[in-house]
Amino acid sequence: MSEVQGSQLNALLARVPAVERLMSSATVQPLLVEYGRTQVLAAVRNVLDTLRHELQGTAAQQREICSADQLKGLPAGTICDEPHLAERVAAVLAQRAQSRLRTVFNLTGTVLHTNLGRALLPDEAVHAVVEVLTRPANLEFNLATGSRGDRDDLIDDLICELTGAEAATVVNNNAAAVLLTLSALAAKKEVIVSRGELVEIGGAFRIPDIMSRAGAKLREVGATNRTHLKDYEEAIGLRTALLMKVHCSNYAISGFTKSVELDELAPLAHRHTLPVAVDLGSGTLVDLAQWGLPREPTVRENIVAGADLVTFSGDKLLGGPQAGMIVGRAELIRKIKKHPLKRALRVGKLTLAALEPVLRLYRAPEFLRERLTTLRLLTRPAAEMRTFAERAAPVLQRALGEHFAVSAEPMFSQIGSGALPVEQLPSYGLVVRHASGKRNGRALMKLEKALRELPRPVVGRIADDALRLDLRCLEAVDEGAFLAQCEEVRA
Ligand SMILES: *Cc1c(COP(=O)(O)O)cnc(C)c1O
Repeated sequence: MSEVQGSQLNALLARVPAVERLMSSATVQPLLVEYGRTQVLAAVRNVLDTLRHELQGTAAQQREICSADQLKGLPAGTICDEPHLAERVAAVLAQRAQSRLRTVFNLTGTVLHTNLGRALLPDEAVHAVVEVLTRPANLEFNLATGSRGDRDDLIDDLICELTGAEAATVVNNNAAAVLLTLSALAAKKEVIVSRGELVEIGGAFRIPDIMSRAGAKLREVGATNRTHLKDYEEAIGLRTALLMKVHCSNYAISGFTKSVELDELAPLAHRHTLPVAVDLGSGTLVDLAQWGLPREPTVRENIVAGADLVTFSGDKLLGGPQAGMIVGRAELIRKIKKHPLKRALRVGKLTLAALEPVLRLYRAPEFLRERLTTLRLLTRPAAEMRTFAERAAPVLQRALGEHFAVSAEPMFSQIGSGALPVEQLPSYGLVVRHASGKRNGRALMKLEKALRELPRPVVGRIADDALRLDLRCLEAVDEGAFLAQCEEVRA
């Protein structure tokens, strides 16, 4: 609007309608019905303010909701017309009404993607959550006695059945499970951990930090690559509260290594009447090798090998909602449940409602691959993704035009969330390169951004001078929506 000057500017400013006039105009009336007077009034003020700033060439960046670009190309007169302003008001209202937490297409190739919400829940869990959200439930009410109940009672016997543990309790996530366990059992005492297991999980979860937050003293033993049973044995003293093992997430130590397995460590601890706690992280309940996936130790195997406590996540390989499970010996679980932090870290009814049906699925392992969403995604054969990749490639190619080359290609997905970090799953997806064959990082980044700005954002990844869209997590129900969106992409 820089060309708008002097008297012309004053003439335009004079034409900006008053707030009340725009509020009562026929074009704004339908918005009142949809959004209510309060929100419409705020939007009208916002649009008129912005317009004045734009006219003065000083569009205040903070309040700029409709870009100044919209003004360009409009005859100078119409920008103050009511129908045009009503459109801007509607746009402001629609933008403010859009949910911030939105569903996206996860085409990163990482199935349990922490930044994209980890495990997707099966329908059984969704229905249970809806029920419990809209109706009263026996969350802490014992239906048999009519007296106050414990929310853990709803779910602990199911967890015990599936893990072989004596007792169980549930908190908000696995980080909370570890914090609570250490606080309840090791405050002001020592916890012995191998140096090779002092891991950072990401998002500021470091075992040494959690340990000090819990008021426990970390006693590191061994070296980064090698720890022997005698290292633990020599560290045990009067102040020892607990021996702890942390499952290697996110990384692998290879080469000249030695770690002490649980079945060696547990007898040592028990000889000294000390408990062993295992932070299993991903905590799967079944042997994944039966579906051709890499082996992960199950919770039950850890219990059998002598763990007194095992902590694990609900929303990693288990495939449920965000939660942290603590399972193990009844006397220790009792102590943990009595700690005041348990109250602060407890789960809500939504979590319990979602967790129960997911756990129930494990009772019918024959159907698990099909019914547990996480497992279904992890075990999809590459041929399935290939069929769709070959269908989608020409659609995306047409939308992107001649500057890009789209092809259907094999690639590898990852499980994610620290589970089995070095393992990769054969997959198939779309690969977009610059048509010239030259490197063009900027063009790819612009395209990647355009995909993120679609109505349902598409999240892929750029690697080796190409934008890669792994189709593993795009199931048949969403294929149509994805193709329709592809047609909207403008390179
Ligand atoms: C993921 C993980 C955690 C943290 O679990 P959250 O459920 O994300 O809090 C802790 N320990 C290990 C070993 C993990 O893999």
